[in-house]
Amino acid sequence: MERKIKDFLAERRGEDLMRGLKSVSHMPKGRIHAGGREYINFSSNDYLGLSSHPALAEAAGKALSPVLGAASSRLMTGSTTLHDELERRMAAFKGKEASLVFNSGYQANVGIISALCGKNDCVFSDRLNHASIIDGIRLSGAALIRFRHNDAAHLEELLIKERGKYKDALVITETVFSMDGDIAPLGPVASLSKEHDALLMVDEAHATGIFGERGSGLVEKMRLSSDVDVIMGTFSKALGAFGAYAAMSKDIREYLINTCRGFIYSTALPPTIIAADLAALDILESEPWRREKLLSNAGYLRESLREKGFDVRGESQIIPVITGDNKRTVLASEKLKSRGYWVTPVRPPTVPKGQARLRLSLTCDHDRGTIDRFIKDFSADG
Ligand code: PMP
Repeated sequence: MERKIKDFLAERRGEDLMRGLKSVSHMPKGRIHAGGREYINFSSNDYLGLSSHPALAEAAGKALSPVLGAASSRLMTGSTTLHDELERRMAAFKGKEASLVFNSGYQANVGIISALCGKNDCVFSDRLNHASIIDGIRLSGAALIRFRHNDAAHLEELLIKERGKYKDALVITETVFSMDGDIAPLGPVASLSKEHDALLMVDEAHATGIFGERGSGLVEKMRLSSDVDVIMGTFSKALGAFGAYAAMSKDIREYLINTCRGFIYSTALPPTIIAADLAALDILESEPWRREKLLSNAGYLRESLREKGFDVRGESQIIPVITGDNKRTVLASEKLKSRGYWVTPVRPPTVPKGQARLRLSLTCDHDRGTIDRFIKDFSADG
């Protein structure tokens, strides 16, 4: 074992792929504090700046007393009236019959997929789906059939070729991709799933709070809520708090409560967090300007960088600048840091080999002046 660990570390260091933890303090208004210095934070998923919104802290504070922890799993005594309220709100928000709260997005994906699928089944999964989706499929024992990223024609080809070999089938895709910031062709994916008798699950981790008239997500924007069977997402990104949800039919909910091991065998989220999640939903309703400003600024930053010749992907608040080479990406990130910008380099295995990138993500608290200064500094480094 010791040899394996040493060899692994040597290899990672050699290829500029070593990851390490950096201690930081989060600050409001899209900033971060580390090593005695303040930075503009372009690496956060706190897209709407809600993690520092006083209403979330106030709601959590009110739910703090008389006890902090939920003290047991949902099925024992951990299911509070706040959990019920959040699940009712999320079902309505997502346009589904019911919803279920999970302790994290990772746990939701692993738990739901492994509960729904088994060894005689297959899962059609976008090639760039999040690690938690892949881990859920692996745990389920179902066959993993990967279609080319955002390529509905390839999905169709594989459904025609492979679907008949298995009992049940699941099609799964992110709606806004976490590392590419682009958007799935949900309409065709939904029609194909129905046509080939496959359940459709989507991951709205990076779309919830941002897209759609009410900020519910891309499924709302595309008016597809009745065509998607399971809509999961997190409270930890645009909603600024913690935990995850999945919206679905009452039957699927009941099935998961009885089969999903990550749900059954884990202590429930504490009421403080659930109360903060509820407060974040209120703000989505009352302050639509946050998502409007975010998307407008993101469009501006993306187009400005494209005009300057950078290889910029995406069509959301996530703006990846492809740098390719690992060392080059790390150096670019360090240069930006010296100028006061926090931009974490993203390298394999998080993204495919040769596609290392600087993943820029905005919050609605970044103003145009800051973005303009960044464009100037970034171009000087390019
Ligand atoms: N799905 C996607 C697409 C994600 O980006 C993430 C978080 N990086 C997750 C699921 C996991 O969510 P959580 O952080 O709540 O575990």
